[in-house]
Amino acid sequence: MSEELITAERGIIAEALTSDQAYQLVKSLCRKFGSRFAGSQEEREAARFLAERMRDFGLEEVELRSFEYRGWQRGSTELFWLDQEDKPHRVECIGLPYSPEGKVEAELIDLGLGTPAEFSLEEGEIAGKIVLVSAERPLYARENMHRRDKYLRAVEAGAAGFIWMRGAPGYLEETGGLPHDAPIPAAGISREAGFWLQEKLEEGQLRVRLAASHQTAPTTSYNVIGSLKGSNPEKKKLIAGAHYDGHDIAEGALDNGAGTAVVMEAARLLAQSSEVLERSIDFVLFGAEEVDLVGSSSFVAEQADLESYQFMINLDGAPGRPGGKLGIALQGWPELVPFFKNMASEMGLENLAVGVSHSAHSDMYPFSEKEIPSGYLSAIEEMATGRNWGHTRADTLDKLEIEKLREDALLLSRILLRASNKKEWPVE
Ligand SMILES: [Zn+2]
Repeated sequence: MSEELITAERGIIAEALTSDQAYQLVKSLCRKFGSRFAGSQEEREAARFLAERMRDFGLEEVELRSFEYRGWQRGSTELFWLDQEDKPHRVECIGLPYSPEGKVEAELIDLGLGTPAEFSLEEGEIAGKIVLVSAERPLYARENMHRRDKYLRAVEAGAAGFIWMRGAPGYLEETGGLPHDAPIPAAGISREAGFWLQEKLEEGQLRVRLAASHQTAPTTSYNVIGSLKGSNPEKKKLIAGAHYDGHDIAEGALDNGAGTAVVMEAARLLAQSSEVLERSIDFVLFGAEEVDLVGSSSFVAEQADLESYQFMINLDGAPGRPGGKLGIALQGWPELVPFFKNMASEMGLENLAVGVSHSAHSDMYPFSEKEIPSGYLSAIEEMATGRNWGHTRADTLDKLEIEKLREDALLLSRILLRASNKKEWPVE
């Protein structure tokens, strides 16, 4: 690295490790704009606030880019189990975004973790029943075990309703978006409530009643875009992204106020040394991620010079990891593993985990689908344990550790700084 780059990086390190600006940004997102649910006024105002901050940092071509889709608004969801006399007993629950309206009363069937094997074992028994599955994803079954996969298996098998039981304890219901054309009503319940239903079911047949009323309507959300211009416009660009929307039941401090703040902090830190950048860097904060990656899909569909991106890196919840080392999870492109491994060791971070771990459930996915090399910062060794506080009402500011926020912003800034100045990339 040139003297100039080394000096710039040292400046970034010093500032990243002593500043509380990233923390203050998450705090502003949580306190001023609440949950920032897709399509809400809070989401819109948060977008304007982020654009304003980008301009303050000195980013260029800052814009709010709107996109239209069918939005979802929460109504009420009620779940009861029925005793021998058909008397209803309430179970605390929350509707899952894009659950349709509907009222079903049917037998409950417990399909455990909702693996393909558990579904096929009960084949023929599922039609017309309400399916109960756990959100857990054990190490032996990691593929196709997202909430959407389990929901679609239930739909496929002819289920009448879907109950999503949280894996972690704490009496918290977990939310999460379904496909926009979800056909059967769905609700999230706590692990404790699920355990109770499973126990009842072991004693014999159990009937439950699920009633949901929600609304959908044409909706507008926004992506927030800003750029740092590199000295060589001939070179392909980098893009760093994070979604700033959250779920309507929480502040979304970790998922993904924190990821938003990491990307914004990297923008701020790099803007202070933008004269040393060779490749340009675009910073994009996506709206409506939690409801099926609508913002990033729209960006990919609309961006005219998409093939001019060298690499996309995404931040989604990483600073909320419970312990665990941060790593780079690539969406494929194994030839980038040694590239980033070398970069890590040049940075003095020999232990930084770099691997290929494909995920279809955050904003790097639409990019990788378009064959733009991409990845995300994630706690690689913790991936098996599933969600922490994200998607529950407990995803609040008190869980955020400023040290992790700093560590992640510093890592992202250094990666972008060095990647911007790499002469050769293994994938063009
Ligand atoms: Zn997220």
